[in-house]
Amino acid sequence: MARDSRFRRLHGMTPIPPGKTFSDLLPTYAGAENEVHLGEPNSECASCRKPFNTLRKRRKAVRMYPVRSKVPVAFAFDICGACLALYQAGGASRDGVLAAVESYCDGVEATQ
Ligand SMILES: [Zn+2]
Repeated sequence: MARDSRFRRLHGMTPIPPGKTFSDLLPTYAGAENEVHLGEPNSECASCRKPFNTLRKRRKAVRMYPVRSKVPVAFAFDICGACLALYQAGGASRDGVLAAVESYCDGVEATQ
């Protein structure tokens, strides 16, 4: 499967486009329709690391899976409205959000 060049700055993870499932991305799992969600949602934005509260709400779940994965296990992290706006702006803004979510997934502390 050719990688989308818009995501070339991500090295370890591949974002799962909205509406797509593993059966769309990994031919081995074509026809698999059920998803099982494990664990608690993240309590702070996976991009800017600010905590969710009544003002800063979860606006989108970014889903990604390890590039070399052979099994259909993905990670889903919620992001806030401000980061969703950056994500929807596309280009470098989207790359920045995705890179921040990837490092969040890897357990890297925010550099801000
Ligand atoms: Zn955020």
